[in-house]
Amino acid sequence: MTEPQRARAIEAVQLRLFELEQKRLRLVSRLEVLKGTGTKRCRQVCGEVKPVSEFYEDPRYADGYYPYCRDCKSEMGKQWYRKHKAA
Ligand SMILES: [Zn+2]
Repeated sequence: MTEPQRARAIEAVQLRLFELEQKRLRLVSRLEVLKGTGTKRCRQVCGEVKPVSEFYEDPRYADGYYPYCRDCKSEMGKQWYRKHKAA
């Protein structure tokens, strides 16, 4: 194995490790929500900590829940509607 090949092989392994770590972090964060306090902070305007039941489930997100609470999400929907209706 030449030196550049070796360097590439090491890079590939490091990348794989990085991906595994990201995956692990996603699972850990999901686990926290599931077995922890059962609450989650809304990432939209209100920024409140609410029970996960106040969030829509969405498997695309790290912890399995939409980042905004139901209130903020419906508010965003209304704003979107107003904006696009007015345009
Ligand atoms: Zn909110």
